[in-house]
Amino acid sequence: MAQRPEILFPLFRPVTAIKGVGPRMGALIERVAGKRVIDLLWHLPIGLIDRRNAPKVAQAVAGEIATLVVQVDVHERPRLKRLPYKVRCSDDTGFITLVFFHARPDYLEKSLPRGEVRVVSGRVEVYGGERQMTHPDYIAPLAELDNVQTVEPVYGLTAGLSAKPLRKAQTAALDRLPALPEWIPARRLAEEQWPEWAAALEEAHGPQRLEDLSPGKAARRRLAYDELLANQIALALVRRQLRRQAGRPLVGDRRLRRLAVAALPYRLTASQETALQDIEVDLASDTRMLRLLQGDVGSGKTVVAFLSMLIAVEAGAQAALMAPTEILARQHWRVLEPLAAACRVPVALLTGRDAAKTRSATLSALATGEARVVIGTHAIFEDEVVFHDLGLVVIDEQHRFGVDQRLRLANKAKDGSQLGVNTLLMTATPIPRTLALTAYGDIQTSRLTEKPPGRQPVATRTIPLARLAEVEDSLARAIASGQRVYWVCPVIAESENLDVAAAEQRYATLAKRFGDRVGLLHGQMRAPDRDRVMAQFAAGALDVLVATTVIEVGVDVPEATVIVIEHAERFGLAQLHQLRGRVGRGQGHSTCLLLYATPLGETAHARLAIMRETDDGFVIAEEDLRLRGAGEVLGTRQSGMPDFKLVDLDRHQDLLQKAHDDCRVLIDAKSGLAGEAGQALRILLYLFDRDTAVQYLRSG
Ligand code: ADP
Ligand code: MG
Repeated sequence: MAQRPEILFPLFRPVTAIKGVGPRMGALIERVAGKRVIDLLWHLPIGLIDRRNAPKVAQAVAGEIATLVVQVDVHERPRLKRLPYKVRCSDDTGFITLVFFHARPDYLEKSLPRGEVRVVSGRVEVYGGERQMTHPDYIAPLAELDNVQTVEPVYGLTAGLSAKPLRKAQTAALDRLPALPEWIPARRLAEEQWPEWAAALEEAHGPQRLEDLSPGKAARRRLAYDELLANQIALALVRRQLRRQAGRPLVGDRRLRRLAVAALPYRLTASQETALQDIEVDLASDTRMLRLLQGDVGSGKTVVAFLSMLIAVEAGAQAALMAPTEILARQHWRVLEPLAAACRVPVALLTGRDAAKTRSATLSALATGEARVVIGTHAIFEDEVVFHDLGLVVIDEQHRFGVDQRLRLANKAKDGSQLGVNTLLMTATPIPRTLALTAYGDIQTSRLTEKPPGRQPVATRTIPLARLAEVEDSLARAIASGQRVYWVCPVIAESENLDVAAAEQRYATLAKRFGDRVGLLHGQMRAPDRDRVMAQFAAGALDVLVATTVIEVGVDVPEATVIVIEHAERFGLAQLHQLRGRVGRGQGHSTCLLLYATPLGETAHARLAIMRETDDGFVIAEEDLRLRGAGEVLGTRQSGMPDFKLVDLDRHQDLLQKAHDDCRVLIDAKSGLAGEAGQALRILLYLFDRDTAVQYLRSG
C-alpha cells in the first residue's frame, strides 16, 4: 500500500487535534463536516455577516446587522423573572435599548458599566417605536472597535454547535495549512488567474462581499477544479490500469452468431448492428475492452449482449451476464435460453437462491468449462465461483451498482485474480454526457438510438387523482378487451413499509372490483412469491399487476399495454421514463396514465409535460438534468455517480471539461507522472481520498 504523503498529515488528523476542539465539539463538527481537519476545511461558508456597517444610532436600520458605539445610560432590572433585563444606551443622535432574557445581572453590570462607552454589534430591531438590540453578538470596549468591525463567514451548523466556536476552529485550521506543491498545470493557473491552494481556501473561508460566496469566484472555482481533476485523474488511472492488463483477443468465426440471428423472429436494427461491430473490434484487439452500451428501455440491449457473448464463445472462452436483481436474471435466462439452445450453447443460471444441488452442478459446469455462458446476479462474482476461462463479462443496468463496486467487479472477474476480462456495461438510464464524464472518464460508448421497428409510441395522458373513478372505468374496458395493466404505487417518504401499505390498499380496492385477476408485487415479498406473481402476469393469468417500483428496471412482458402511475408527481423524470418503458414493447397500442395530486408544483408540472411530449430517453435525461440540476441527479443514491464536496456541476460544467483536458496531458506525457509533477498529483489524489488510484500511479 502506498503511504499518505507526510505533508498531508496535519490535514488528516481528527478535528479534535485543533486547539479548542474537544470530543463533544468534535462529534458535532463530524455531523456537519466530517471527522478530519480536511473535512472541516471543505466545509465552506454559506453566508456572511458584515459588521463593517457602523451607523449612528438614529441611522441604524431595522433588520440590519450594525456595529454601534454607544454610551450606557441606565440598567433596568426586570420586575418578573420572565421579563427581559434592559440596558438603555444612546449616542448623540438617538436611543437604543439592549435586551437580555435570562440575564446574569452581575455579568451585565460588568460588561456594560453605567456612564461608559461600549461597542455593541448585532441585529437592530424596532419594537413599539423604539430601537432595540436583543442579545448583541459583541459587547466590547471602544479599543476593540476594529476587531468587531469585520466580516464573519457563516457556516452550516447543527443543533448544539454554535457559530463562534466553529469559526474559531476554522481559523485555527486555516492558520496551519501546509504549503502544498502546485498540481495545476502552470498554463491553466495563469490563464484562470487562480490563487494557490492555501490562498484559495483562505479566500473561500473569508468572504468580504456576497459575491465572494458565488461558485463563480476564482477561489471556489480553483477548489472545484481541484476536486474534478482528482476525479478525472483517478478515473484515468484506473481505466489505464484496466486496459494495461493484456486483454486476450477474442476473435469469433460467426458460426454461432449466424445460428442465433437466424433463430431471431426479427432483424437487428442498424444501431444494434453498429454496437455489435464496435464490440467485435474491441474484443479482437489485445487491449482489454471496457465499453458502455447505452440504450433506452426496449431498445434491445439484451440481444446485443447475447451476440457479444457468442463472440467470446466462438473464440473458445466463457461469458457471463450479470443482472442487478433476481427477477431480471431469471427473465434474461428465460429469453436467452431458447436462443442459446438454437445454437447449442450450454447456458447456466446462477443466483443466490439456487438449491444446493443445482448450485454445485452449476459451479462445476463453470469450472470445467462445460457451461459456456452464465446468466445471474452478483452471485456470479462470489469467491467460490471459478471459471474455466472467462473472456467477457456483461453487466446489465449497471447504474444500480456504485462506481467502486463496478470497477471491482470488472477487476475480479475470475476467482479474485486480476484477469484482463473484457467488460461491457449496459444501462437504460441514458447518462447525460457531463455526468458520464465524471462517472467513467473517457469510457467508450455505443448507443442504441432507434427503437425496434413496429413499436408504437405510448400514448401518455396526465389525469388528476380526483378522477380515479373514471380511470378505473377505463381500466375495466381495457381489461375486457384483453389488455394487461401495470398499476404502480409510489415511493412514500423513506419508509418501505408505507409504500407497501399503499400498494396493498390499492390492491384491495382493485381486487374488490376486478376479483382474482389482480396481483400484487412489492419488495417485501419473498423472492419466490415475487417470481410466481411475475410469471402469472407474464402468462396472462393476471390482468392487473399492482406494484411498487420493483418493476422499474427491465421487466419485460410484451403483452402489457397499459401502465397507470399513481402520484406521478412524486417520481423523477428518469424513473417515470423507465416505468413507462414497461409498456409499448409489443405490437399493441399502449397507454400510460400519469395520475397526479393537485396542486402540482412547477417542476412536477414541467416533468409531466415532458413525459407527454417525448419518449426519447436521451432527451428526457438532458431535461431531467436541466430541471433537477446536476446536484440532484448526482445526489440520488442509485445514480452511482461520485459525490462532490466542492463542485457544483450546474455552475462548474466548464471546469469539468478543463479538468478532463488537463488530465489527458498530465497522464499521457509519460514522464509527467514521475518527478515533481507526479508527486504533486499524488498529493492531490490523497487530498480527495482517491488513495486507490494512487496505487496505479505508482505502478504506472
Ligand atoms: P432493453 O434494451 O430494455 O433491455 P430488450 O433487450 O429487453 O430491451 O428488448 C425489448 C424487446 O424488444 C424484447 O422483447 C426483444 O425481443 C425485442 N427486440 C430486440 N431487438 C429487436 C429488433 N431488432 N426488432 C424487433 N424486436 C426487437
Ligand atoms: Mg434490459
